[in-house]
Amino acid sequence: LTPPAMAQPPPAMSMKKIAVMTSGGDSQGMSGAVRAVVRQTIASGCIAYAVYEGYEGLVQGGDLIKRMQWEDVRGWLSEGGTLIGTARCMAFMERAGRLTAANNMVEKGIDALIICGGDGSLTGADKFRSEWPSLIDELVTTGKRTAEEVKQFKHLNIVGLVGSIDNDLSGTDATIGCYSSLGRICQAIDYIDATALSHQRAFVIEVMGRHCGWLALMAGVSCGADFVFLPENPPSENWEEEMCSVISKHRKLGKRKTIVIVAEGAHDRQLTHISPDVVKDLLSNRLHLDTRVTTLGHVQRGGTACAYDRMLATLQGVEAVKAVLEATPETTSPVICIVENKIVRKNLMEAVKMTKDVAAQIAAKDFGAAMAGRDAEFAEYWQAFHITTSTDTEHLKLPTEQRLRVGIIHVGAPAGGMNAATRAAVAYCLARGHTPVALHNGFPGLCRHHDDKPEGSVREVEWLDAESWASKGGSEIGTNRDLPSADMEKTAFCFEKYRIGALLIIGGFEGFTALSELRQARTKYDAFKIPMVILPATVSNNVPGTEYSIGSDTCLNALIDYCDAIKQSASASRRRVFVVETQGGASGYIATIAGLSIGALAVYTPEEGIHLKMLVEDIKFLKDQFAKDKGSSRTGKIILRNEKASKVYTTEIIANIIKDEAEGRFDSRFAVPGHVQQGGTPSPMDRVRAVRFGVKSLQFLESFTGKTKQQIAEDPASTSIIGIRGAKVKFSPMKVIEETETDWKQRRPKDEFWMQLTEVVNTLSGRPQSALHR
Ligand code: ATP
Repeated sequence: LTPPAMAQPPPAMSMKKIAVMTSGGDSQGMSGAVRAVVRQTIASGCIAYAVYEGYEGLVQGGDLIKRMQWEDVRGWLSEGGTLIGTARCMAFMERAGRLTAANNMVEKGIDALIICGGDGSLTGADKFRSEWPSLIDELVTTGKRTAEEVKQFKHLNIVGLVGSIDNDLSGTDATIGCYSSLGRICQAIDYIDATALSHQRAFVIEVMGRHCGWLALMAGVSCGADFVFLPENPPSENWEEEMCSVISKHRKLGKRKTIVIVAEGAHDRQLTHISPDVVKDLLSNRLHLDTRVTTLGHVQRGGTACAYDRMLATLQGVEAVKAVLEATPETTSPVICIVENKIVRKNLMEAVKMTKDVAAQIAAKDFGAAMAGRDAEFAEYWQAFHITTSTDTEHLKLPTEQRLRVGIIHVGAPAGGMNAATRAAVAYCLARGHTPVALHNGFPGLCRHHDDKPEGSVREVEWLDAESWASKGGSEIGTNRDLPSADMEKTAFCFEKYRIGALLIIGGFEGFTALSELRQARTKYDAFKIPMVILPATVSNNVPGTEYSIGSDTCLNALIDYCDAIKQSASASRRRVFVVETQGGASGYIATIAGLSIGALAVYTPEEGIHLKMLVEDIKFLKDQFAKDKGSSRTGKIILRNEKASKVYTTEIIANIIKDEAEGRFDSRFAVPGHVQQGGTPSPMDRVRAVRFGVKSLQFLESFTGKTKQQIAEDPASTSIIGIRGAKVKFSPMKVIEETETDWKQRRPKDEFWMQLTEVVNTLSGRPQSALHR
């Protein structure tokens, strides 16, 4: 995530009073957003308030508008829902209610409000702001307030944060809560999968989303569903036939189970509701499948937030406070959004209007416009879903001479999403008439195959082979760390022998290095004068050319689950600080983002190193924290240390030093989650992005068809890396990335975008600046 540029220091109006509120339906991550707003407000020298129970609290006032202290929000990142409550408030819909709310705010001296909620809540907020001057006037004319009392309340600052599970606000790629909710859905479907497979059953699963099919579509993509029903894009007029035809084809190809996902607001093109029961009857009566319906309901709102939502809530909460502090009376109300990996401010009312437009377009049966009203990513996922599930692809096939034999190879350690990416690439190849060829067990596998000729090391993949890989962890085609340079001659020979016409590498820094070697070996071997692309996949997220590698999100989720569990154990026993060792090689990304997501006290990275003064200052800070915590039940504290942060200060040594220095006031232990960090089942984010990048990579390789070997060799773009860079998904030529952006010695990008986030971790934990300087 790219944080926005640092805010200016707060202007002269110090001790500004900023209130935060959660409103509308709850979502995972809202409590994390409140924590970030409260702490950033206090860290900026201002006073923080929380409005309890949404607009109801604003209208009722009194104790429902409460001053918040730093300690009040301790541990909130690990809590689900919203700890300050939320409500739907009819009184606020009326001017009279808003007048009372304004009076309550003046009474407390609050002149800035940060609202985390859906489009309804944000609309209410904007209305409040636009009416504010007239509300203030009315308070004076009706004698509720004197002119003197309202003098400093001429303007109200409003900033929106989008908290919603169904990701329905236009302008942002993700809302706070949507990936956690998707996680709940995928977990349930993964469970259902096992029983469906055992009994060869069909399941129709209803998910939330009255006007927005994001959850249904993403669940379909990440779980490899057979059919999805979305409000924005209903199936054809003849949808009963269409669905039955797709599902019976899948069954004929050998699939033992069927999953159909229905969004709550699904309908046909005439807007007649499509209920899960209607779908069930069709599957039972027409296809004679043993079919069950599962409505997931409020489970989707439940549980704690996933790593991404915690990070989003934190960074957006921080950004919201900065937006308040930078606002002038002329600034339009912003809503804090995320585009790919960049936190941005957008015009709140424009985003709300676009959202409402989509609902209106659906109601007017203008489904093309409704799809266009969602972000570009949505359409790409829709296309990816179709390509990976549809077997009726004759119309998509390329002319024979443009078809490729595409080698797919995994390099390096396994990472969540490798299989999903491979499945998508295979399905794309088959849809377009290319031949997907799995090169099993990395480059050594390819070369060994040539020596020993074992069956199956280089294998053309069928649709059914890859079909079940959407949610699988590990590497189904096998992976290996060894590089082609171990035997370049033989590698080239094998490329020719198996007529590899394009190559997709899925892997981490080793995969990156392998592609670099192949590119440079082109001068010697014609076999490598083919289009080649790497799809970054590694838990460490240390591949140059991208800010995100598949697998890193799975790793972060595994780490935060681990840390939440040990934190809990500490609160049940003694006052304890855990020093947790993370993976990541020489990149502190995983440690830092996990630190951001669990509210770590400090994060030790290889980039910053560890020195004696740092430890001394951090131990002082710990003593201070434990002293303040007296009587609190949430006393487990975490320091994250990357495995390569220091050669001298190992994780165990740090834990021992802390224990010794604590002199019995608290305890310290070290913990090493190790390979737990590779995660079991990949996270939904890794799965969906794997599918999207898999399809995009194949489209990229395909764009070189018709070019001669010479033309390909001369085109630097013909060996590229796909990655997220700021607000964009881009293919970057390897030559440029290798030569200008790679720190080969440390095996990481020269410029790591996330380094700026260490400041957020430190600010929100209250870690003293003195710890950072030798
Ligand atoms: P969800 O995504 O769960 O629907 P939401 O924020 O859209 O969240 P709503 O129920 O639409 O949820 O709105 C929450 C509250 O915001 C309402 O109960 C009301 O108090 C306030 N609100 C909504 N729309 C308006 C409006 N037009 N004017 C004033 N207040 C409003």
